[in-house]
Amino acid sequence: MSEKVLVIAFDGLDKELIEEFNLENIQQKEFGTIDNQTGMKNIYTSELFASFITGKNWQEHGIEHLTTWEDKNKGRLIETLAPKSIVESTKGFHRLRETLKTLLKTDEVKYSQEHLETETLFDKIDNSRPMYIPGFNPTIFWQLKAETLPLEYGYGADIAAEFWDTREHEFRTKNLFSELENDIVSPRDFLMVHLHRTDFHQHLYGDPTGVLDKDKLRKLYQETDELAGEILEKAGDKYDTVIFMSDHGLPAKKGHNEKAFYSSNTKLFEDTPKITDFHDKILEMTQE
Ligand SMILES: [Zn+2]
Repeated sequence: MSEKVLVIAFDGLDKELIEEFNLENIQQKEFGTIDNQTGMKNIYTSELFASFITGKNWQEHGIEHLTTWEDKNKGRLIETLAPKSIVESTKGFHRLRETLKTLLKTDEVKYSQEHLETETLFDKIDNSRPMYIPGFNPTIFWQLKAETLPLEYGYGADIAAEFWDTREHEFRTKNLFSELENDIVSPRDFLMVHLHRTDFHQHLYGDPTGVLDKDKLRKLYQETDELAGEILEKAGDKYDTVIFMSDHGLPAKKGHNEKAFYSSNTKLFEDTPKITDFHDKILEMTQE
């Protein structure tokens, strides 16, 4: 019998902190680490989620890092003059890169479906719905980099956090709940929802190399756990398998740390899965 599978992605939810703050809903029956490094080029959101939904690495699915260029040729020139690897650790190079973008009238855009070179779970499972998946169908808010606007205009981290929560997080959770509460349409064979709140807040005050506010992190993690509880309650009799996961953990000096987690209410893996292992597993569960 085929199963109905729900995946909730909590971007950046750090496995070590889940354990430290003892989150009860997030840690379902099976709880463990995701190997998000084997075959990956970068621990960045778009590349990792593209790997999750295709079961392939960047060489095959074509998505590496977080963003690509509107104009490939101009992008290549900028990459040569101000390589991302140097920009991330050198302020002067960051300014150079920004100046080049203005002069060449091009910008980085977040990856989406059009950049993918292989099929995804959403192509393979008929009754499936992707909600805001990086590297596939991200929200317009995130595509337009709206989340950084308050900071660019000089507002502080608290305003930026509130801006995100009220415009973007509420939008995603509202639509997630109306999907789960919809009694007219039967549950999907595969529903996957991406929530970005933890990662965004962590970049504001959870950066171990800059601002690290443990109290704020504890509150953020507890709120996330409450949300996970509400999701479990609403999804309970509709979905056979509920998987919670993250793509990486806290921000690090370069990108993010590797502390990704997964949990499931049913048995999934014997050993630590690679982020590319979920594709076959979900396909198998939904198509048995
Ligand atoms: Zn991420």
